[in-house]
Amino acid sequence: MNKIIYLDAAASYLKSDAVIGAEVDFLRNFYANSGRGVCARAAAVDDMVLRARKKVADFIGGAAENIAFISGTTDAMNMIAKMLDIGQDTIVAVSDLDHHSARLPFEMAGGRVVKLPLDDEYNIDVAGIPYADVMVVTAMSNVMGVAQNVPEIVRIAREKNPNVVVVVDAAQYVVHDDIDVRLWDADFVCWSGHKIGADTGIGVLYVKNPDAHKPVKFGGGMVQRVVDDGVLFVAGAEKFEAGTLPLTQIAGLGVAIDNIKQNRPNLELVKRLYDALSEMPRVRLISSRDAALVSFVVLDMHPLDFGALLGTRGVCVRVGNMCASWIHQRLGIAGSVRISVGAYNTEQEIDTVIEYIKDIVK
Ligand code: PMP
Repeated sequence: MNKIIYLDAAASYLKSDAVIGAEVDFLRNFYANSGRGVCARAAAVDDMVLRARKKVADFIGGAAENIAFISGTTDAMNMIAKMLDIGQDTIVAVSDLDHHSARLPFEMAGGRVVKLPLDDEYNIDVAGIPYADVMVVTAMSNVMGVAQNVPEIVRIAREKNPNVVVVVDAAQYVVHDDIDVRLWDADFVCWSGHKIGADTGIGVLYVKNPDAHKPVKFGGGMVQRVVDDGVLFVAGAEKFEAGTLPLTQIAGLGVAIDNIKQNRPNLELVKRLYDALSEMPRVRLISSRDAALVSFVVLDMHPLDFGALLGTRGVCVRVGNMCASWIHQRLGIAGSVRISVGAYNTEQEIDTVIEYIKDIVK
């Protein structure tokens, strides 16, 4: 069988040998639980977690006290929606760019949903930002690949309501470009490690002001002291981390951050693919030309059929609604095809896939 060409980084990024090595090293050579022991090994694990927390904080411009390790973007969004006590009078602003994970936890919490308008290029239209109590901003859609102007969106949202709680889904943005939470000025920013080459089961929740929010998961690790009339939680965002941390995944996360900082996906590869697709009469591109992903439909061909035909040639791409139903509804299509690259993809792979696609859509 031909070698697989993996072009599905936006679903989950392949892991480097360095990330795998860090996890194996942890499991084999210094495994222990964190935050519970006093022996040298346990201290080494505590140190590893602290270093990873600092690395994450540096990566996104925050401080270690603002960083909670959670299992992923979905977990973070569900936690935040619970923290905010959303009632039927809470105005929650969402957009058609949102992934199901980013929007459903807030919609299901029962708030009054209003929409952030989009312009013709699928930017959130800052001129039409409504008053909201809670605002979900998808920094980059997993279908459209448009990088939103988060600082400007947050600035205008706060002009409308100084107390608005802004939640940013950075699951796709994080691979695309540097995040500086100081510039974004959101209340919460979350992303999943597996989108930058770390393992599944580890994600990051940045909380601007941990003291302003209550934990919604309870258990070991987040309690400082049980007192007569209740519980004192640990300081900072660690109070949002009940239970044993995903230590192996944390061991890999720091390395994945180093990797991605040095070597982001090559956007020129996507442009090359984008330009080739734009020459094919049956292909309708729907995404931006500037992201690590390209989304499109093929006229008179179901995305699933297209994906299967590429699949038989050993090419892994994503097809369907990408858990982003609203943007597909808005575009009037049931689904699309998405090709996305990691830093490990090569020009030769892209050229091979262009030839395969030409053959399929001829
Ligand atoms: N938001 C966006 C924009 C995404 O692309 C994804 C992953 N497809 C998620 C949220 C959910 O991430 P996870 O499944 O890792 O929780």
